[in-house]
Amino acid sequence: MRKLYVVLSLVFLLFSCAKEAQEVNYITISSKGDPIELKHDEEILSSADRDNVRMAESIFGHKGSSKCASTSLVSHIFQGGEFDWIKVERGYMETVQSSPREYLFCNPNSILGSFNHATTSIIQSLKETENLISYTDYIFPKIELRVAPLISEVQRRQSGNTYYDKREFLVNNAFYTNYPMTNRKHKYLMTFLPQGKTAFGVPFSGVMLWNIPFVPSHEYGHHIFSQLFKNESLVKGHACFNTVIAEEELKPADSAKVVRSLNEAFADVIGQLSHNKKENFKGVNCFEKIRDIHSSSYADGEQKKLTSRFLQKFLNPSYKVYTSCNQTLHPRIHHFGATLARGIYKLIEHLPIEQKMEALFSWVEQMGKAIQAHHPPKYSLKVALELLLDNVYDKSNMDKRVCAQFNKYFPVFATNKCL
Ligand SMILES: [Zn+2]
Repeated sequence: MRKLYVVLSLVFLLFSCAKEAQEVNYITISSKGDPIELKHDEEILSSADRDNVRMAESIFGHKGSSKCASTSLVSHIFQGGEFDWIKVERGYMETVQSSPREYLFCNPNSILGSFNHATTSIIQSLKETENLISYTDYIFPKIELRVAPLISEVQRRQSGNTYYDKREFLVNNAFYTNYPMTNRKHKYLMTFLPQGKTAFGVPFSGVMLWNIPFVPSHEYGHHIFSQLFKNESLVKGHACFNTVIAEEELKPADSAKVVRSLNEAFADVIGQLSHNKKENFKGVNCFEKIRDIHSSSYADGEQKKLTSRFLQKFLNPSYKVYTSCNQTLHPRIHHFGATLARGIYKLIEHLPIEQKMEALFSWVEQMGKAIQAHHPPKYSLKVALELLLDNVYDKSNMDKRVCAQFNKYFPVFATNKCL
């Protein structure tokens, strides 16, 4: 019956709208609001909008740049466009309402708050990740990039022959998807939603996600993870920078959720290694401590260490009340992933960069073979972290400090392997 509904929706969209329709898998995006639309270079931003952008950048220091760069990681870049994502049982169906514009040339004089300025900022970030990957022999398939599309989430109700749509714009997030889309060329897609005003104002202190260099590299980290892990049933796309918790995150964890958390952690480590500086999120509310790999604790003081208590709160969520984006939300894959990310980073910290990358990449390949969806979640996590330890221990020529770090950051799985 569910499949029938999806098929019927597809038929309806194809024939009634005569627009291209695609199924978009499993993305839960809880950020909705009024998008702050970017402009093409020939258009002019209102002076008020321009002042807002300038103020955020001058206060928080996360500047986009108009310096031209190129990266071989990306095949095509599309700016803007309007899409409807119609909610169906397992995700969304996409229809194109107006086509995006393909980005072909860098304009070194692009205007702050323009598509080209945002695009250049993303490319510069990805260039750093390309440099990081060049320490390995790996070559990954190129991705496509979608910059600030206007995506409306459409919840459709049918009464007789009439459809009632509730429409909300998706804003303030970035995500990577890795599923094949049958009628479209791209298979690997990185999307940056526009910044927007929500019921709580403009999040992240007004800083646009593409102006935080960590963010595009984090998204590309998901591409690497998905290519190495291979088990597609366990690797799904998910929005990476929600400020409110999605209901499905409060369900008891399974192995797929463990893998999603490991995926987030890996992406954070790639983001950090691509931009090897402290305070990648300085001044950006909601992320400043939570997602900064150098921060030993969350904003509310919770330590980033995988204790038995911490793990239990992830496996069996009991959250009912959400008070602030700075609260530690153990069941959330990004928060739980931040503790994993810090532990992973600390484990490889002393290795030369080539060995860091070798250890990380071979770890993900081995995890993809070892973890199965039917395994109990705690078992899957234990297998994953022990594989990490094995890889790093080997690369470090059996340096005992590796085990000491492992036991410090993952005490629930403490080992005596180095004795
Ligand atoms: Zn992510």
